[in-house]
Amino acid sequence: MKRSTVLTAIAGLVLAGPGVARAAEVTHSDEEWRKLLSPESYEVLRHAGTERPFSSPLDDEKRPGTYACAACNLALFSSKTKYDSGSGWPSFWAPLPNAVVTKTDKSLLMVRDEVRCRRCDSHLGHVFDDGPKPTGLRYCMNGVALRFRPGRAA
Ligand SMILES: [Zn+2]
Repeated sequence: MKRSTVLTAIAGLVLAGPGVARAAEVTHSDEEWRKLLSPESYEVLRHAGTERPFSSPLDDEKRPGTYACAACNLALFSSKTKYDSGSGWPSFWAPLPNAVVTKTDKSLLMVRDEVRCRRCDSHLGHVFDDGPKPTGLRYCMNGVALRFRPGRAA
């Protein structure tokens, strides 16, 4: 590759900014992810599956702490923004700063905003605009995509 081509590519990455797909920082092949994760987590995180509602113990989790990505351990949500949405999935009204990215998902004949981990690009759930104040957002997460770390809330 010519030097000018390399520089153009770097400029493109820098200019991409938020909202534009960028390469994940933590990457593994599909086969590696399958070995690293439980079957349930693998299906949700790497193939955008959805766990059965009311199946996750994290739906009822009320202790202070931090919810991290089950794939790469990045802290994603604080217990301070968790609330009971009644949906059967762990729900939050805001993610931690710089933790997740959203993108439009047109599968299953719906238009939804898919939520992915910013660091490893794994699927976490969806975000809807019927959440409580102050954001009005409902981050509807799959419990198997999260790992709860009890302790001081982030
Ligand atoms: Zn992750």
